[in-house]
Amino acid sequence: MTLAVDAIDRFRTAFEGELIDRDHADYDAARRLWNARFDRRPAVIARPASTDDVRATLRFAREQGLPIAVRCGGHSNTGWSGVDDGVVIDLRNLAAITIDPERRRARVGGGALLKQLDVAAQAHGLVCPVGVVGHTGVGGLTLGGGMGRLMRNYGLTIDHLRSVELVTADGRLVTASTEEEPDLFWAIRGAGTNFGIVTTFEFELSPFGGVLHRGNRIYPGTRVHEVWDAFRAYADDAPDAVAPILGLGRAEPGAGYPDAVTGQVIVVIGFNHSGEASRVAADIEALDRDLQPVARTDASAPYLEVQVSGDDAHGWGGRSAISGGMANEVRPAALDALVAHSAAAPAGIEASFGVTLLGGAIARVPEGTTSFGPRGGRFDVSSQAGWTDPALDAAADRWVEDAMAIVGPDLIPGRYVNEISQDEPGMPRSIYADRYDRLAALKRTWDPDNVFHGNQNIEPAAD
Ligand code: FAD
Repeated sequence: MTLAVDAIDRFRTAFEGELIDRDHADYDAARRLWNARFDRRPAVIARPASTDDVRATLRFAREQGLPIAVRCGGHSNTGWSGVDDGVVIDLRNLAAITIDPERRRARVGGGALLKQLDVAAQAHGLVCPVGVVGHTGVGGLTLGGGMGRLMRNYGLTIDHLRSVELVTADGRLVTASTEEEPDLFWAIRGAGTNFGIVTTFEFELSPFGGVLHRGNRIYPGTRVHEVWDAFRAYADDAPDAVAPILGLGRAEPGAGYPDAVTGQVIVVIGFNHSGEASRVAADIEALDRDLQPVARTDASAPYLEVQVSGDDAHGWGGRSAISGGMANEVRPAALDALVAHSAAAPAGIEASFGVTLLGGAIARVPEGTTSFGPRGGRFDVSSQAGWTDPALDAAADRWVEDAMAIVGPDLIPGRYVNEISQDEPGMPRSIYADRYDRLAALKRTWDPDNVFHGNQNIEPAAD
C-alpha cells in the first residue's frame, strides 16, 4: 500500500521530526527490529521531535485509517514495534533524561534506552532498577514491569515509576500518577502498551554504590535434583541483596565450558549481589554449602559495566522465541523432563530454561497495586531459544512451548507480559488473569477503538 501523496505532504508541513517513507534511503535500516523474525514494511516511519509531533502523527494515522505501531528500543519479542502498511511512531529522538539529584527523580523520554538511564542516574550515585541488556528500550520494558539484576533489592522498574505523560488514543496529553488518573496509572504499570504513547516517564531513584558482586556455578545435568534442592532451600530465606537464577541448557562446544560437561546438559546457578561487599560471602554461603560445582566464577564489577556486558551476546539480527510463567514449586518429574528436553534441543538452536527467584522488594508491594502480577509468586520460570536459520523457526517455537508445557502443572495464574512471544488468542487473559476484566473496562474508557493494539491486546469491554 502507498500513502496518498497529498496526505503525507500535508502531514509533513505540520511535523518537525523525521519522516522515512519507502523511497527514503534509510527505510530498510529504520524498519528493522531486534528480533529478525519480523520483517515489517510500514507505509511510513515517523520520528517525532516533540510531544506535539507524537500527537500530530497519531492524528494523521487515525485520519488516514492506518494502523500504528509505537517503538522505543525495538526489542519486542513479538515484533510489535513494526507494522505492515501502517505508521510506526519511533520515539528514538525523544530520549532526553534529566536527573534531579536532590529529589532523586529522573524524567526520561519515552524513546530512551536502559543504558542511557543507567549512566545518567549513576552519574549521581543513583539507580532505577531496569533490565539486563543496555540496548533494550525503557518504554517497552517499563510498561510491562521491568525485571533485572536489582529487582529483589530495589523492586521492579514500575515500582519506581511515579508518573507518566502519555498521548491517549483521542490525541490528548494526559498525566497519570497515584494522584492524577490513578486507575490509568494502575493499568500503565504492567499493561501500559495498551493505553497510550508515553512521552515522559518520571522515576524515583535510589542511592546505589555502583558495584555488583556476581557468581556462577556449573553442575552436570545429572545432578539436577541435588542442585535444585539446594537452590530451593536457599530461596526460602535468601537475603534481598541476592538475585539468584537456576538455568538449564546444553553446554555448547566453543562457549568456554569445561571439557567435563561440554556437549552435555548443565545446570547453572548464577547470582547478582547488590549489597555491601562485606556481606557477599555470608549471604551466599548457604548456596554453596554441600555442592561442589565443576566450575565457578566470583567477581565484583562496576554496575555500569555489568549492565552492558551482555549487549553483544544479545545483539541485533538473531531470531528469538520466549515464553514464561510464575510458579511456587517445580516438581522433580519436571526437572527430569527438562533435562531430557534440553538434551534434545535441535542443533542450531540455543535453548535454555530458567528459574528466577522473585520475592524481596517485589513481593513487599501489595498485590493489586499495579496491573503486573502476581507479586507473590516465588519463581519466574521461562524458556527461550535463539537461532539464525529461518528454517528452524517452527522447531524453536516448539522447543520453547514444550518446555513450558513440562512445567504447566506447576504454574500459578499470571505471566510476565515481556517474556511472552506467542501472539495467540487467550494469551492476554492468561497474562493478566484476575486483572484482565478491570483492564478491559479501562481500555473501553481510554482506547475504545483499540488504536493501541500492537501488544498483548486487551480488548475494550463491551458496553
Ligand atoms: P519495542 O519493541 O520498541 O516496544 C515493545 C512494546 O512496547 C511495543 O508494544 C511498543 O509499542 C510498546 N512501547 C514501547 N515504548 C513505548 C512508549 N514509550 N509508549 C507506549 N508504548 C511503547 N525484560 C525485562 O523485564 N528484563 C530484562 O532484563 C529484559 N531483557 C531483555 C533482553 C533482550 C535482548 C530482549 C530482546 C528483551 C528483554 N526483555 C527484558 C524484554 C523487554 O522488556 C521487552 O521485549 C520490551 O517490550 C522491550 O521494550 P522496547 O522498548 O525495547 O521494545
